Amino acid sequence: MSLLNGKNVLIFGVANDHSIAWGIAKEMHNEGATIALSYAAEILERRVKPLAESIGVTFVEECDVTSDDQIDQLFAKMEKEFGTLDILVHAIAFANREDLLGRYLDTSREGFRLAMDVSVYSFTALARASRPLMKPGGSMVTMTYYGSQKVIPRYNVMGVAKAALEATVRYLAADLGPEGIRVNALSAGPIRTLAAAGIPKFKQLHREFMQVAPLREGITPKDIGDAAVWISSDKASKITGEVLFIDSGYNILGLTVPTDSL
Ligand code: NAP
Repeated sequence: MSLLNGKNVLIFGVANDHSIAWGIAKEMHNEGATIALSYAAEILERRVKPLAESIGVTFVEECDVTSDDQIDQLFAKMEKEFGTLDILVHAIAFANREDLLGRYLDTSREGFRLAMDVSVYSFTALARASRPLMKPGGSMVTMTYYGSQKVIPRYNVMGVAKAALEATVRYLAADLGPEGIRVNALSAGPIRTLAAAGIPKFKQLHREFMQVAPLREGITPKDIGDAAVWISSDKASKITGEVLFIDSGYNILGLTVPTDSL
């Protein structure tokens, strides 16, 4: 018996076949879910539509999550075509590149507002829009990173945004728990995606991660997809408001130098 048989899933954040959202879509599809996809802008349609077709997805809609009108239109379509929603996946983030170059100290007001709007508020907006379609047993999942808890060079305003996103998860979990809807975050180790390419010296960060993470193994979108399947399934039915690390154990370290040399 597949873990997500009969579940309707709406996934935000597929940019290309390296996206974490795409890894999640494939694993949820493999577990029997019916998938609906949303992408940010028209320019992505060319890449996202063939991916969707490859797993038989017919609901593929554009939605800029900074627009309440676009969110309303998308959910109206979702309700018409699917009637109900069981799982919401939010795999979206954005910050201006100049805010990821220097010091956090120099973040502009507009850069801060933009990062928080796209990367944090959007999860609240999508949760509110999803709620009328969700029954008890529903699951909402977002994507975070360890830079929310510890200082990671150049992650800057995204670290602050991820801290706010993790707090958002707890508040939403408290609001929606009485309705039987669970809300959790997955904290992924570094994965080479389009968003990651925007983080200066990401390659270096990735190399260091591979040398010191206890499992010495890189993280793939499939790893995140597997975790997303489990946390959204009935096997995790009493877990809500949590941040689950999928990072080969990196977050447990107090000293991030290769221990073989000590
Ligand atoms: P990705 O493939 O670039 O996905 C990010 C997605 O967010 C893109 O589809 C992007 O669309 C979308 N987005 C940006 N602004 C948007 C808007 N206004 N409306 C709708 N969508 C918008 O990169 P990813 O690494 O898979 O990122 C997915 C999530 O995982 C993010 O929250 C990221 O912070 C998180 N995460 C990533 C890593 C990592 O190492 N890669 C680690 C931990 C957590 P555009 O391409 O059009 O901007």
